[in-house]
Amino acid sequence: MNDKYMLNGFPMENIRNKNETRVIKILKEVFLEFPDFDNCQLCIEDVYALSLKHLPAIYAQKGSIILKHDVSDEDIRVISRYAINQVMQRPRHG
Ligand SMILES: [Zn+2]
Repeated sequence: MNDKYMLNGFPMENIRNKNETRVIKILKEVFLEFPDFDNCQLCIEDVYALSLKHLPAIYAQKGSIILKHDVSDEDIRVISRYAINQVMQRPRHG
């Protein structure tokens, strides 16, 4: 049990931002298009954070059915490529 996800005695950890897992799944594919990416932890975290920042949040309760995604997989791919390019041009470790 992760206490950070407890709210008034109830666990909220099953309610997660749907974009989190979608971005991770799509980034695994999109990173293959960038053989020059340095693949260090800092840059990967920056790409992930930057990608999420540019997506509208879609929250879902575990087990609920999402009837409509406002954001398509292709939208996430475009945003992921943008984020990778940004981080490759300006890595925080110089
Ligand atoms: Zn790096």
